[in-house]
Amino acid sequence: MKTLRKELIINTPTRRAFINITQDVQKAITESGVQEGLVLVNAMHITASVYINDAEDGLLSDYEKWLEKLAPEKPHSQYAHNGYEDNADAHLKRQIMGREVVCAITNGKLDFGTWEQIFYAEFDGKRNKRVLIKIIGE
Ligand code: ZN
Repeated sequence: MKTLRKELIINTPTRRAFINITQDVQKAITESGVQEGLVLVNAMHITASVYINDAEDGLLSDYEKWLEKLAPEKPHSQYAHNGYEDNADAHLKRQIMGREVVCAITNGKLDFGTWEQIFYAEFDGKRNKRVLIKIIGE
């Protein structure tokens, strides 16, 4: 069995951002030499998410608005967690959007539906954050 472990470092200039990391994951699969297997991709931070959905700008904007309704960043005083970091909203947003995805690898490629893309969602950026890619297979 072949394995590969890799970390992506992501530092967004804004507090919140959605970044398509599909090509980074595919590069890691190619590097691993795995033809048939699985790839796990997870945010290594509790204020960021990895999820799969459409790479359509309108949808990304809809996510931003929807998440701000569910867990608005401000006022900071509305959250018990705040006071030290003021990132309670980022923890809540991450919970909604999820921690990781697991994808099938077939013939050395991500075995995806037509519109599936892997996104890293940042909810408390402006600093280095890590994404883990773990590939297993043959
Ligand atoms: Zn926190």
